[in-house]
Amino acid sequence: MTSNEKIAECPICEKDVPPRTEGSAYPFCSARCQLIDLGQWLDGKYTVPGSPNFDD
Ligand SMILES: [Zn+2]
Repeated sequence: MTSNEKIAECPICEKDVPPRTEGSAYPFCSARCQLIDLGQWLDGKYTVPGSPNFDD
């Protein structure tokens, strides 16, 4: 039993991700999931927790 090539799980869609290969979107299963993650990160960046509501 060799465990040095651990199967990762895509953080976005939770699919199994093959071991890192050249040109892959590792640790994501695809470039698409990589972009989704980037979008979420940007959302978090631009959403300031506890920011006041501007009601007028
Ligand atoms: Zn994915």
